[in-house]
Amino acid sequence: MVSSVIPVQPFDLVIFGATGDLAHRKILPSLFRRLAVHQIPDTARIIGAARSKMTRAEFRKQTAAALEEFVAPALLKPELVEQFLNTIDYVTVDAAGHDGWATLAKKLGDRPDHIRAFYLSVAPGLFGVIAEKLAAAGIATPSSRIVVEKPLGKDLASARALNAQLSRHFEEEQIYRIDHYLGKETVQNLMAIRFANALFEPLWNARFIDHVQITVAENIGVAGRGEYYDQSGAMRDMVQNHMMQLLCLTAMEPPAHFDPNFVRDEKLKVIRSLDPLKPSDTVRGQYRANGSALSYLADVKDPASRTESFVAIRAHISNWRWSGTPFYMRTGKKLSARLSEIAVVFRDPPHSIFPKVEDLRGNALIIRLQPNEGITLRMTIKDPGPGGMRLTEVPLDMTFADALGGDGGMPEAYERLIMDVIRGDQTLFMRGDEVEAAWAWTDPIIQAWADSGNKPQQYDPGSAGPIDAYKLTGSDGHLWREIAT
Ligand code: NAP
Repeated sequence: MVSSVIPVQPFDLVIFGATGDLAHRKILPSLFRRLAVHQIPDTARIIGAARSKMTRAEFRKQTAAALEEFVAPALLKPELVEQFLNTIDYVTVDAAGHDGWATLAKKLGDRPDHIRAFYLSVAPGLFGVIAEKLAAAGIATPSSRIVVEKPLGKDLASARALNAQLSRHFEEEQIYRIDHYLGKETVQNLMAIRFANALFEPLWNARFIDHVQITVAENIGVAGRGEYYDQSGAMRDMVQNHMMQLLCLTAMEPPAHFDPNFVRDEKLKVIRSLDPLKPSDTVRGQYRANGSALSYLADVKDPASRTESFVAIRAHISNWRWSGTPFYMRTGKKLSARLSEIAVVFRDPPHSIFPKVEDLRGNALIIRLQPNEGITLRMTIKDPGPGGMRLTEVPLDMTFADALGGDGGMPEAYERLIMDVIRGDQTLFMRGDEVEAAWAWTDPIIQAWADSGNKPQQYDPGSAGPIDAYKLTGSDGHLWREIAT
């Protein structure tokens, strides 16, 4: 089955930071893939903007090289590449200075009827000044959209300051805060599974759900970006944004409509219902050295660093639906596999009529974000054969790429999100108050860790994290799922 593609309206997308890593690895390849399925009209313009002095032809060459590197060769048909490069333009702009703004204004002025979007793929310190310059140069119109990437602040105060800078020149309806996890097909399917099927929603509460586990595990360390990472750590880099968004979508009430503000209101209510975290609900870790592979402390070149490369959390949502059901979250570097999943673990049947089988873990719905986006329902069935009524567990498995078929059916997160920006659909983007509420929840625990002076617990590379992470779930009689693919 191939998804139907509805072309978007003609647009001008200005990518600030077009010569950078994110533009090359994600934004330009995603736009190419959307053009390849005819979603982008010929008249669209993708305008790179950065300080590097470059001609349009030179930036096209750079774009072609990025496509070569980051798009599957089978998709790179010469006529499509040519068509894509025809949409590409470039303006040398210094976000912090005066150069280039008039040229950009003139270029955009040529097509007043085009939807205008500005993607700020630059350091967050430039967000405010770019928003201001766009307004001052008359480039931003009331219908323009501005797209910003994480990190959206490093704490509540800085997130508030950033929101204030943006809202000085743009309405909330014009601001698109990207969390690429929300662009993943599986994450949206979580909403479809919950709210488009009668099957699960009656069971989706503390009466039937024992606990929820959200895991975002990476098997690589921080080498190469150690300095950046050491300023943030797992809590800021993963929990405050991606993992809390996953928690919200799992726990939220059904919105009255599938409309951006209805969905975001419900997510915000979840964050506001979270109990304050206690230090005893958290575990921090740092990976050790392993043979010739360096430890976290060596990777970040700071033997005294207390930044966590792993965190595990036990969260409680105090509302009628979830009171008594813990939500465990864990994320870390150099773990045993690269895996992101949400596991919704159901309670046992109230009374068993069958002989007890020790290893059975009961029903669970596993929503897998990577690798192989898909959904698995763990069911208990009779072990086949004449050996009496023995029970066993089987996965009912649906990998989306198989079910929906290849590239056309499975757009990457950035493809969907950028097209949503052009369509003006904010459902999968974070609202300013959500971001602030998430920081308000994570800030006190980050502060408590700093105040305690305690070091994160060491863990072995290739493991599932520090020993205390097992104790966190173990003390509730629960067991983390294996981190394996
Ligand atoms: P990067 O590789 O360092 O690129 C930065 C870009 O900003 C370059 O194109 C640079 O070009 C441009 N730039 C710097 N100063 C400028 C100025 N004064 N005026 C105009 N352009 C300027 O960074 P990146 O990895 O692409 O990341 C971009 C943003 O996305 C950051 O906020 C990052 O945190 C976020 N992000 C990145 C990733 C990722 O995977 N890379 C993932 C999530 C979020 P010139 O030097 O030519 O000006």
